[in-house]
Amino acid sequence: MKIICIGRNYAKHIEELSNERPKEPVIFLKPDSAILPRNHPFYIPTFSDDIHYEVELLVKINRLGKHIAPKFAHKYYNEIGLGIDFTARDLQSKLKEKGLPWEKAKGFDGSAVISEFVSKDQFTDLNTISFSLEKNSKIVQEGNTKAMLWKIDDLIAYVSQYMTLKIGDIIFTGTPAGVGKVTPEDKLIGKIEGKTFFKIQIK
Ligand code: ZN
Repeated sequence: MKIICIGRNYAKHIEELSNERPKEPVIFLKPDSAILPRNHPFYIPTFSDDIHYEVELLVKINRLGKHIAPKFAHKYYNEIGLGIDFTARDLQSKLKEKGLPWEKAKGFDGSAVISEFVSKDQFTDLNTISFSLEKNSKIVQEGNTKAMLWKIDDLIAYVSQYMTLKIGDIIFTGTPAGVGKVTPEDKLIGKIEGKTFFKIQIK
């Protein structure tokens, strides 16, 4: 399986990192080795002093597809989850400056937190799903899919123009504003519509 991540999909997060608003979605990948095993702590890697959390809504692909039209995109996923795209921001900034790929800053071991998935039928409208991240019992990020520049169906259509989507692939749909640093002993809790989807201990 592959993990496809979308960058710069929420206007307020683009502003907080002083990034340019893209004309098309920004795509990057994480390897399957980036997945943090369930119920494992996240260990801050030695190569970074600035690991950021980015809470993101996840979509799991359940059908093989390429060149998918937006109006058919809903047929390619049944389940929604929540995750964290852990990012070595110091490393990413250096790579961005030089115009180099982000993999070292985004694809390292443990950098992909992936919750259990639930049926999308649980939600009345996929374009108004609210989600949040708490750090040490304080809400640090709050998002709602209505604020996405590109909605889930648009993202599936767009990505599938470039790479075939396969069963089990997971899309990280981008992070809202509020990203920040983690330090040892932090506790992160991710929620969709108030329901807990993951808990992560930082070490
Ligand atoms: Zn992200």
